[in-house]
Amino acid sequence: MKPQIDSQLEKDQIILCPDCDLAIRYVPITEGKRILCPRCGRNLISPVSNTVEKTLALSIAGLLLFIPAIFLPLLDFDVIGLESSGSIWDSAIALVNSGFYFSGIAVFVTSIFVPLLKLLILLQVSFQLYISKAGVLTIYLFRTYKHLDEWGMLEVYMISVLVTIVKMLHMARIQYDTGFICFILLLIFTIFSSLFLDEHFFWKEIYKITANKTKSSPSFSQAKRQES
Ligand SMILES: [Zn+2]
Repeated sequence: MKPQIDSQLEKDQIILCPDCDLAIRYVPITEGKRILCPRCGRNLISPVSNTVEKTLALSIAGLLLFIPAIFLPLLDFDVIGLESSGSIWDSAIALVNSGFYFSGIAVFVTSIFVPLLKLLILLQVSFQLYISKAGVLTIYLFRTYKHLDEWGMLEVYMISVLVTIVKMLHMARIQYDTGFICFILLLIFTIFSSLFLDEHFFWKEIYKITANKTKSSPSFSQAKRQES
């Protein structure tokens, strides 16, 4: 049954460019090659070998680092004997306590809540594919993950930390705390989890697994209609 579904998928699949809406017939390609939109040049498909295993491993590593990266102090400043340090969590709380409610909430959402949610969703989806137990929930979660892409901004927070270091370099003694190392590693794992995520393969696997077991389910049919 599975080979029939595979061959049907490969044969009938049409890719729609998200940028210019050009419909392109899918052609199977190997790792190292890409399918680009002939009209706008957008990268549509870039196969990654063992994408599920790599994504699963990186999401677990990211989650293990998440709590120390967020709650441990990043930097320790010593300005003429006055020491101060703070974590990402402290910065969000400090902004709220100082009356900058919007900025505090923005830091919390973009640097803590969304990155954590993305890692949890990635763990759940890749684990379900790893054990071949995907369902309707997997479809909703993976779609949510793609929508959250614009809201996770750990990179922006990293840039602000680097700017602070550069500006304070001549005014204070700066010590890099454990939280800083964890934050750098968390950022690296988050970036690599996006690079190793073969979205096309994930959707294909989700379809393959769910197509056989829940075709008769009303909720699954509804999900498939919304997906298309
Ligand atoms: Zn295009």
